[in-house]
Amino acid sequence: MMNCRPGIRGWSGLCRTPGCVTCDAWHEERRQWLESAKTRALEFVDAGELALAYKSLVSDLSQHAGTREHPGLFLTGELFIAGHLNTEESWREHIAGYQ
Ligand SMILES: [Zn+2]
Repeated sequence: MMNCRPGIRGWSGLCRTPGCVTCDAWHEERRQWLESAKTRALEFVDAGELALAYKSLVSDLSQHAGTREHPGLFLTGELFIAGHLNTEESWREHIAGYQ
């Protein structure tokens, strides 16, 4: 078992060394946060509320350090404004791509 080595921490405070238990726990927590954000957004998609799906995604992802600057958020906003995410199906496909 290894823990984060302080000397080589990056911007996130994580050392990103494979097998580091601190990093693994952080990534697992981030993954769970992202999955719950996707689930919540999909509930709005299912209800046909596409703008609310977007707002929900932005709101949820902005509340976790690991997803706050997710590059997908900018792309999603651009695509939505440009009218490319105008169907429930396109939203489902798009949200599924978030990692
Ligand atoms: Zn680490």
